[in-house]
Formats: sequence, C-alpha cells, structure tokens
Amino acid sequence: MFASPMPTTANRIAKNLSRIRQEISDACQRVGRSPDSVEIVAVTKSVDIPAIKNCLKAGLVNLGESRPQQLAERFGQLDEYLHQRHDALQNEVKWHMVGHLQRNKVKQALTAADVIHSVDSLRLAEEISTRAEADERVVDIMLQVNCSQEDQKFGCAVGAATHLGEMICSMRSVRLTGLMTMGPVSEDPEQTRRAFIRLREIFEEMKHDKIGGDGFAHLSMGMSGDYAIAVEEGATIVRIGTALFG
Ligand SMILES: *Cc1c(COP(=O)(O)O)cnc(C)c1O
Repeated sequence: MFASPMPTTANRIAKNLSRIRQEISDACQRVGRSPDSVEIVAVTKSVDIPAIKNCLKAGLVNLGESRPQQLAERFGQLDEYLHQRHDALQNEVKWHMVGHLQRNKVKQALTAADVIHSVDSLRLAEEISTRAEADERVVDIMLQVNCSQEDQKFGCAVGAATHLGEMICSMRSVRLTGLMTMGPVSEDPEQTRRAFIRLREIFEEMKHDKIGGDGFAHLSMGMSGDYAIAVEEGATIVRIGTALFG
C-alpha cells in the first residue's frame, strides 16, 4: 500500500517552487500587489531535459535559456516530447531568450524563442524585425537596460533607453512588451533595489510618453538572489534558475 515515491529531483523542484512562490507572495503583500501579477520564467541553462520536464509537471510553462544554440536544441527536444503527449501543454509552453544575443545568432534564436528579453541595440532589433518579417510573424521583445551601469554588463545605457524604445516601436515585425535588467553583482541589497527602481522609472517615463502600446506591460527583473527585491519594485517577470533547480 505504498504510493510510489516521486523522483527526488521532481520533489526538490516542487519544493523549491513552493518556497519561491511563497516569497513572491510575501513580497507582493508587503507592497500591495497581487501575486498573480508576477510570472516565473524557469531558467534551464544549467539543467538537463528530465529536470525541464519536472519543471513543466510542477506547473511552470515559461522556460528561459541564455544561449541561442542551447535554446534551439532544448526547444527541439522538448517539442518532440510535448508532441507525444497530445495535450494542451504544448500550446502553453513559451521559450524566453534571456541572455546576450549577437546579430548573427538571431536566426537561430528565432527558431525557438517566443520572447527575447535581451535586445539592447537598434541594430539587433532591426535584425530581429527583418527576420521575423521574412517569417511572416511578429516577435515579442524586451529592451535590456544596464541599470547598474557596470562596465561588463550588457544592456543599453539608461539615458538611451527611451529613445531606443521609441525607435523599436516603429519597426514592423517586433512588439515591445517591456524592459529587462540584471541586478548588480553587488551584495548590497539597496544598490540592487536602486537598479530595479531605475528600470521601473524608465518604464513609467516611456508609458507617460506613450511609447509602446497596450502590450508594453512588463518588467523582467530579479533572479535567484534578488527576486524578492525585484518584486517589491514592480517586476512582472522574474527569471529564476539556481533557486529552482539547486
Ligand atoms: C542565468 C540567468 C538567470 C537565472 O540566474 P539564477 O541566478 O540561476 O537564478 C536569469 N537571467 C539571465 C539573463 C541569466 O543568464
């Protein structure tokens, strides 16, 4: 009369997820937001396919990768599995390209990505739009802003974001859905908070200037070490790897 035990990795992911959800919900409560306004992207770059399947079983359908080649590979492998299941899940799974993207990798990224979080230049946005147009589709993209102003980080400069966003909105085959940033490497939570506040301020400024339509609605900020702060400062998408799979 023993129930068959869940595999331990599935157990661990489910447990981690419930802790993360609780922390998100606590952070939301502190600032009067609804927990439903925060979406989790499971960043799968350092785990294997069985772990990704467990992630889907735990109810996470937004998956993120940081390199175009791995994104394309994983997409292919998982698509096959989802096909065999013949259920609604196939239509729900969304792949997010969260890492730095070079123009010569756009084609590959577009074979798999539903959303690209890491657009940080006009030329990159143009390349995505041109490729998307050739495929007769419109791709959701986010503008990555270097809010911590650290030299080694990707993302456009804070002062360039609004103008860049405006230019992107004039392109035919991309849709600007929000802004993305990476928190600083700093251990100082207040420095992290300032970077997230800055992203929100740029977002609000753009909204005020009527840049981006109704679809311009997201702040992608917060990773394993700083998602609670990000949620307090308005994140609608958190990108989590280690805290989920570790
Ligand atoms: C790896 C990665 C994440 C997730 O990082 P964790 O610290 O493992 O949660 C989020 N965003 C980007 C862009 C990443 O490359």
